[in-house]
Amino acid sequence: MIAETKSDLLLGIEAAETVSRYSLDPSKKVGAVLRGHTWARGFNHIPAGIYHPSDPRIAELTRDERLDLTVHAELHLLIDAGKATQGATMFIGATEPDGTPVGIAPCRRCAVHIISAGIAHVVCRQRPAESRWRDEWAESIRMFKKAGIAFVEVGA
Ligand SMILES: [Zn+2]
Repeated sequence: MIAETKSDLLLGIEAAETVSRYSLDPSKKVGAVLRGHTWARGFNHIPAGIYHPSDPRIAELTRDERLDLTVHAELHLLIDAGKATQGATMFIGATEPDGTPVGIAPCRRCAVHIISAGIAHVVCRQRPAESRWRDEWAESIRMFKKAGIAFVEVGA
């Protein structure tokens, strides 16, 4: 993984950004792609068992209510991948509602799941300098370092 070129890493990130477009989240669409013994993918969503994607009540949820019910892309990927996560690489990409790619890192909750699943490398597009998630992302990256997970950010 480490020997891969920047363009290889961007290919994985762009695949995750493509998957992010499956998300119906009105604010940030996040996608994740796993490359290991097999491929897996995830995107942020409210499970259809709670609200069907066409349920108009979703639009009435507050931001906090929506976040509380949302399965993050990273966890969705881990559920999809099953036991294929050991030593694998997770690419994460996000897009704004207009489709513009944006840098991101996993939240602390997802970092805990990623560490538990035995992921070896996490690859993201470089984070923006300013974000309300900045401190949370920094904590996730500290946890990855402690757990021996390579966190790779790819700049422009
Ligand atoms: Zn998360």
